[in-house]
Amino acid sequence: MTRDYDAIVLGLGGIGSGAAYWLAKRGVRTLGIEQFALGHARGESHDHSRIIRLSYVTAPYVRLAKEAYAAWQSVERDSGERVVFKTGGLDVGPRDGAIPLEGYADAMRSESVPFEWLDAGEIRRRWPAFAVGDDVRGLFQPDGGIVAAERATAAHQRSARAHGATLVENSPVTAIEASGGEIDVVAGGERYRTRHLLIAAGPWSNRALQHFGVKLPLEVTKEQAMYFRPRDVSKFAFGSFPVWIWMDDPSFYGFPVFGEEGAVKVTQDAGGKPVDPDTRSFEEDPDITARVSSFLSRVLPDAAGPQQLVKTCLYTLTPDRDFVIDRLADHPNVSVAIGAGHAFKFASVIGRVLGELAVDGATRSPIADFTIDRPILEMEAPPKTYMV
Ligand SMILES: Cc1cc2nc3c(=O)[nH]c(=O)nc-3n(C[C@H](O)[C@H](O)[C@H](O)COP(=O)(O)OP(=O)(O)OC[C@H]3O[C@@H](n4cnc5c(N)ncnc54)[C@H](O)[C@@H]3O)c2cc1C
Repeated sequence: MTRDYDAIVLGLGGIGSGAAYWLAKRGVRTLGIEQFALGHARGESHDHSRIIRLSYVTAPYVRLAKEAYAAWQSVERDSGERVVFKTGGLDVGPRDGAIPLEGYADAMRSESVPFEWLDAGEIRRRWPAFAVGDDVRGLFQPDGGIVAAERATAAHQRSARAHGATLVENSPVTAIEASGGEIDVVAGGERYRTRHLLIAAGPWSNRALQHFGVKLPLEVTKEQAMYFRPRDVSKFAFGSFPVWIWMDDPSFYGFPVFGEEGAVKVTQDAGGKPVDPDTRSFEEDPDITARVSSFLSRVLPDAAGPQQLVKTCLYTLTPDRDFVIDRLADHPNVSVAIGAGHAFKFASVIGRVLGELAVDGATRSPIADFTIDRPILEMEAPPKTYMV
């Protein structure tokens, strides 16, 4: 028996759950298919927290970030669940760091986003946990904060179902057949038919795209989030301590106390090794641990207490670190999103945009930079720029 839907979402991590929510909310008969249990920890979207911020390196990202906050507000209203927690955001690093702050300041200024330049003395005065030298400076943006990742994905899924979506779990999509305007999807022993397919497969993106003869130069890496028990936890309280990003190579970022009692989360950005998402381990990477620990001892020594917990998680990196949000040229009824290791904050708005691309064929959101056929994605061995 074939079951018919107006839209099928392949993958119910952060982005796919957002797509299912927005499609169902606008009355589209939607099926979401997930290969593992909903809320699983094998992909990119688990754990308590992700940074959300308006501070981004280009104006279109800043505009999309504004839309991201608005999208989460809709989710909060619909689900009755708070998912965004503002605590302020600090981009901080050496004046000659690998990720120049000027571009961020310019992009925010062009979009009328308020922010402050802070010198090292002011950073130390506001947040005494930062043991930064005088060569360091920062950009502070008060809307920066946390999206409660697992909670937000669960809220998307709950609200999608409340709006009529069907979500199935433990059902890997094993075959996709497109002919004419129809697409057949086989998953978990069932055959489904749809006119619109949305692919939000994270680390398994190329596997899903191969059904359409598309292969992108993606790198899947195993990253890790580490929780430390600060010596003086009062210096890291949510509401007074910001989310922060160290804008150098290597780049690190971290959170105030949130999710795990008495512990702060710190991670290295794009510090992990390439893995296969099916055979990867869940073991701690001692090289990342060493880099994070040494950074903390130097820059945030009060946070460098006992290590409480490590969680591994995958990134799906495009070579330029920009997203893919587009329709397939040869199959315009198939749309795809790839988050490039920084998309959770945008999960809801990207989900909405994917739905618009699928159903309306267009979106007003600023995604022109995220085409699937941009030159760097057509190269077999493209140069990689992960520090942005
Ligand atoms: C340690 C870490 C820290 C991060 N920090 C931040 C941050 O601070 N801020 C931020 O914005 N972003 C951050 N990110 C990035 C962000 O979490 C990801 O970009 C985002 O979660 C990607 O979501 P996704 O839906 O694309 O992928 P996923 O959550 O992996 O979802 C893809 C889903 O598709 C399913 N799937 C794949 N193939 C199939 C198939 N054939 N059949 C059925 N289901 C299938 C998978 O099982 C999976 O559930 C971080 C990521 C990590 C790992």
